[in-house]
Amino acid sequence: MLVLLTCEGPHAPDLGYLLHKNPASLHEREIGHGKLTVFYTENEPARATVALLVEIDPIALARGEGRAASLEQYVNDRPYVASSFTSVALRDAFSTALSGRSKERPELVSKPLPLRARIPAIAVASGVSLIERLFAPLGYEVRATAHPLDAAFPSWRGTGAISFEISGEKTVQEILTHLYVLLPVLDDDKHYFVGDDEVRKLVDHGEGWLAAHPEKELIARRYLAYQRPLVTAALSQLTVGQEEKDEEAQAQEDVLEEKVRLSDQRLEAVLAALREGAPPIKRIVDMGCGEGRLLRLLVEERAFEEIAGVDVSSLSLERAEKRLHLDRRPQAVRERVKLLQGSLLYDDKRLHGWDALALVEVIEHIDADRLDVVRKVVFERLRPRRVVLTTPNAEFNVRFETLPAGKLRHADHRFEWTRAELREWCAGARGYRARFVDVGPSDPEVGSPTQMAILDRESET
Ligand code: SAH
Repeated sequence: MLVLLTCEGPHAPDLGYLLHKNPASLHEREIGHGKLTVFYTENEPARATVALLVEIDPIALARGEGRAASLEQYVNDRPYVASSFTSVALRDAFSTALSGRSKERPELVSKPLPLRARIPAIAVASGVSLIERLFAPLGYEVRATAHPLDAAFPSWRGTGAISFEISGEKTVQEILTHLYVLLPVLDDDKHYFVGDDEVRKLVDHGEGWLAAHPEKELIARRYLAYQRPLVTAALSQLTVGQEEKDEEAQAQEDVLEEKVRLSDQRLEAVLAALREGAPPIKRIVDMGCGEGRLLRLLVEERAFEEIAGVDVSSLSLERAEKRLHLDRRPQAVRERVKLLQGSLLYDDKRLHGWDALALVEVIEHIDADRLDVVRKVVFERLRPRRVVLTTPNAEFNVRFETLPAGKLRHADHRFEWTRAELREWCAGARGYRARFVDVGPSDPEVGSPTQMAILDRESET
């Protein structure tokens, strides 16, 4: 089996340094069950291609420990298709590059280069679509061709080989890592025992890309040979890493706002707005509930009989579920709360007829050109009796000493409104009357760090 890696452009001559393999020589090495050879098929100023050839001895393979002898042990596709053997060979041949080091070109280790990898043959039972599903989310352009076993017998499906190539601007380490992890996932037939060690390998090599991969569950299942306890362990370790990253962005905003312990004050202000008035608010939607900071407070109040946390992000909902510890709460509490995936941009029938809608630090995450749609959905379709909305007050930003002028408080904020801008948007809420409350210490000149709008449906007031 063969893997070809091509680098194009001005850094093509550096490929040899990045892989620690001199293009002028042939590199051979014995590996378990066979031999690997690294050589260059071209080495031009603007294009270099390195080939990794892995020759497996099917006889040695069949004589390995614990293998029953049958004809299939001797006659099989293992020598010809990319599989976990290829992965092991990749690691043996390019271990330094795989670990992100280069003695002679350290400055290029983290530089994305125009790279292309070609795999002439792999056996993927579920066909070319899986190759696309695994590599496209990582930013590769994928081209795959299925080769039927025999064109005369199209019914012999599923066992033919597929050739494919992936290309993209990637670092050498990235493309090697992606192949190292995903080739055996595609092949789905590991040649060695899969144990705890493999969990660590998957988590280590998955760092920075696997947690956010839409197929991470499939990848973990296949990589870990369907051993459920290992899969669970790997997925939870991966998610922990991801959580930390997301929390980092949140922490930056929190640090900025810490002096005034703003987030607590904000939630208290929202609760107060939900408690007031008659008839009392009983059923609340927390739209954009995130990891459930407000939900945790809402469940503590019996007066709130039904609570729905809604978010577009399934990851946020998973975290909210964990942090609410619903599984450990009495049935009566569990029945009051539900978590739904949904969006502020759609008229969601499940959200009609509720008493109140909380929008806590959500509106600034919506693209400015969707704000009219949001206003229509909230005030003309969902039509709760009360909407409680909080959002940063952009005028206050000059008081945050560590925030450079003109910068927003959080990397994902699409905008931050001045007090006048919030009022203007609320004025367009048809059939609602708005009040505004300062949250946090109010400055005579620039107002408070958070601004809150409470909008009541007019027929009710
Ligand atoms: N209300 C929470 C989270 C605020 S962060 C708190 O105060 O802690 C903003 C949240 O809005 C994120 O969880 C994000 O996933 C969610 N969000 C972004 N766009 C959304 C949309 N169109 N519909 C619903 N939720 C959305």
